[in-house]
Amino acid sequence: MKTTNDTENLFYAINPATGEALPGGFREHTAAEIDAAVQEAEQAFEIFRREPPQRKVALLRRIGEELEANRAALVAVCTTETALPLPRLHGELTRTINQLNLFAGLVEEGSWVGARIDRAQPQRQPAPKPDLRQWQIPLGVVCVFGASNFPFAFSVAGGDTASALAAGCPVVVKGHPAHPGTSALVGQAIDRAVQAVEMPKGVFSLIQGHSTDVGMAMVMHPLVKAVGFTGSTGGGKAIFAAASSRPEPIPVYAEMGSTNPVFILPGAIKEKSEQIAQGLVSSITLGTGQFCTNPGMVLALDSPETARFIGEIAGTLEKNATTPGIMLTPAIQQAYNDGVLRMQQVKGVSKIAGGVSRNAPCEGIAYLMQASAATLLRHPALAEEVFGPSSLLVTAEDKAQLYQVAERLEGHLTATVHATPADLEEYGELVKILERKVGRLLFNGFPTGVEVSPAMVHGGPFPATTDSRSTSVGTGAIYRFTRPVCYQDFPENALPDALKDENPLGIWRLIDGAFTKDRVSAV
Ligand code: NAP
Repeated sequence: MKTTNDTENLFYAINPATGEALPGGFREHTAAEIDAAVQEAEQAFEIFRREPPQRKVALLRRIGEELEANRAALVAVCTTETALPLPRLHGELTRTINQLNLFAGLVEEGSWVGARIDRAQPQRQPAPKPDLRQWQIPLGVVCVFGASNFPFAFSVAGGDTASALAAGCPVVVKGHPAHPGTSALVGQAIDRAVQAVEMPKGVFSLIQGHSTDVGMAMVMHPLVKAVGFTGSTGGGKAIFAAASSRPEPIPVYAEMGSTNPVFILPGAIKEKSEQIAQGLVSSITLGTGQFCTNPGMVLALDSPETARFIGEIAGTLEKNATTPGIMLTPAIQQAYNDGVLRMQQVKGVSKIAGGVSRNAPCEGIAYLMQASAATLLRHPALAEEVFGPSSLLVTAEDKAQLYQVAERLEGHLTATVHATPADLEEYGELVKILERKVGRLLFNGFPTGVEVSPAMVHGGPFPATTDSRSTSVGTGAIYRFTRPVCYQDFPENALPDALKDENPLGIWRLIDGAFTKDRVSAV
């Protein structure tokens, strides 16, 4: 990525806190430059995928070191482009470095390749059984769309990039146009790491632009083999549709909208309504609500206790969310205001609490709305994501209606249940319903804050994502960019190390259905 004095097709980051364009324009990459970046990535692929694990480990760790070495400059530029506060950005950058190191550790340990070995049985009747050996190989060039709401952790060096590189895939990133300066600095850090560990240059490229043509050209490039995306439902679906329409369709892992329903069961309301109200308001307003795990819908049974609980949430929000936070971009603010207005215009929805406008640019005023479950069932669009610090409190007449609402839910990233042990016994079926709707179920917690670790699932059925079989956070994210390949009756010296009899990498393998680190012995 270059900045230039050319005025032709320059775009500028906007400081959301002032509404002013930041100095230093960014030139949109041309179709020829996109083609060159993807071609270079493809050339790098053949070398990169054959590199021994330690070389990929060195690259991932070095990227983290380069980011750490440039921490001050990165967060300084990022805060002007996003208005995200410095402590949040420091935390997010640390998380980003930890993600890179987590994937480095995964590659170093090695078992992620999923080696499976079924030994031959030449004497088997009625037909001999062949020797079969399977492992995961990288797909090829991966196109990553940086997200606006995580300028480090889901952007140029974020989880998609880390997992694709760990898999052995070169990455071409489409930087988000809201933070081009941050993207450029992170891109330069990755370039330095690629150079330092002497990897082919095409292993990583950054493409910048502010029109959908740029991203589309990347998705449609015949040498791109998979896409990672975080953003709007409209964007994710358009990219998915385009990728499916290619002569060679490719997988798109788009993480899109989610309302993250929170169910508060009667015993929990009786026992700890104040604590839940405090936690909910913090979760709804955290980061000005700009998290895909923001709790946008809260559901409970209609009762005097629930009425008191709703009063408590409303009071807590009015007390704590007086100063609106600043949203990431004017377009995101506009979409948020439109979404809140649309919701409030539905008959049966009432606003029960709200922050106060300071007439500041890009402010995201927190709102709580309330509706009955009957209203929600009549207007299912009320369950769609409104990206920002608002939530809809829904009261159901009885257990049957609560289950009906749960059954009608579309796919979400998370669902939360606040319950006592007695609630869980009485409402056990609710958990069974929710398992089919989400990627992560929380008990007595709040959905914001996504741990980056092996067991995490950050995904869910459509429309939360375009592929419910995957996660975009945690080590499982690597399998979005690999596919299994099986070798039948291959001689030892032609097998990859991971599948050789002696197990030279010392990794866990599934031999005849049992996990072991042992060598392969004769049957
Ligand atoms: P976005 O509009 O979906 O944009 C994300 C990226 O995708 C940008 O690089 C954008 O590039 C590109 N893009 C969007 N539509 C495209 C298309 N049809 N073809 C090719 N590329 C396309 O998301 P955003 O700008 O971050 O925020 C807009 C809305 O997305 C928010 O209001 C919110 O509702 C939602 N959002 C959701 C999440 C989540 O985690 N689920 C995160 C962030 C935002 P260009 O802008 O250059 O076209």
